[in-house]
Amino acid sequence: MASRHPFSTLYLSAPDVIALVQRKGIEQCLRGIADNIHADFLRWSAFDKTARVASHSRDGVIELMPIADEQTYAFKYVNGHPRNTRWGLPTVMAFGVLADVATGAPVMVSELTLTTALRTAAMSAVAARALARPGARTMALIGNGAQSEFQALAFHHLLGIDTLRLFDTDPAATTKLQANLQGTAGLRTVACASTAEAVRGADIVTTVTADKTNATILTPDLLAPGMHVNAVGGDCPGKTELHADVLRQAQVFVEYAPQTRIEGDIQQLPADFAVTELWEVLAGQHTGRAGDAAVTVFDSVGFALEDFSALRFLRDAATDLGMGQPIELIPELSDPKDLFAVLRSCSPALRAVA
Ligand code: NAD
Repeated sequence: MASRHPFSTLYLSAPDVIALVQRKGIEQCLRGIADNIHADFLRWSAFDKTARVASHSRDGVIELMPIADEQTYAFKYVNGHPRNTRWGLPTVMAFGVLADVATGAPVMVSELTLTTALRTAAMSAVAARALARPGARTMALIGNGAQSEFQALAFHHLLGIDTLRLFDTDPAATTKLQANLQGTAGLRTVACASTAEAVRGADIVTTVTADKTNATILTPDLLAPGMHVNAVGGDCPGKTELHADVLRQAQVFVEYAPQTRIEGDIQQLPADFAVTELWEVLAGQHTGRAGDAAVTVFDSVGFALEDFSALRFLRDAATDLGMGQPIELIPELSDPKDLFAVLRSCSPALRAVA
């Protein structure tokens, strides 16, 4: 009989991750995840990459996002249902797994709803650090829902944004965002009456709206020389935020081109439309912004590698802080070839048979 290979799976519940973020502080979490994303993007060729597998329905999408390097496999389950808030559910909900490539053993199962907001904001900040003009201080934030505080804080802490110009078609969302950011020193918020008003004078424009339609949140007349556009909300077929001419007039950067061509704002353009994968800029293989007057767009859709980076961050932080619970996700077998034995030991009826 082969020797037993004991292990347990670390479970991080939503309350565990909330407590972890509170203990470490949101700025440290955003910085830690951003550092992991940056480091993992520099190892781009080490990853077995694939566009995510999406199951579309009338009101939303459910996706699986796998990725692996030689040691670690990860996947995330995530949905996107813009109408969910009407039923009291978030638009985006997620959980994820880290597994050991050598054995296939699942080593961690974690909540990823809060973590997706953190990693999406950290990813946006990593992209903007590489693409926005240095010295950017004002950001327009269009769409003030669940993701928006995280975007605001990532740009404040990681880029030095000190003024946010806000717009949402639902004024209550803007009021909520302003209330949540009230205690953030050095960050000023200005509620605006329209997208056009919000983007006036902005160095960076973040669009993070949710509507399952080809929306035109940003039109070419709203662009200004030197602007960086962080387009987060257009992330699935038939769901876009930018007018196609915004993309035609800009340098467009993406996470993983095969996935973004299906899901990103560039789905509106021919398959040979020129884009640059962000890792090339981070690795110094592409110069990035062409000059002070260029308009840059980060056509964000959310790529599995960012969740891999975030899961690594959670695993390391939970280990440091002694958080989470070991769970028995896989039955413990004294003889790995005798799976049936677990039933014999549990059920009196089966024990009688045995
Ligand atoms: P949410 O439903 O909580 O908030 C979306 C907000 O957008 C709402 O307040 C809504 O009123 C507002 N809105 C809708 N249409 C608008 C318009 N035309 N102009 C201005 N505001 C408008 O959703 P969320 O969780 O904040 O997610 C926002 C978007 O980001 C979703 O589309 C989601 O799929 C996407 N997302 C992308 C990534 C990524 O990695 N790229 C990650 C997470 C979420």
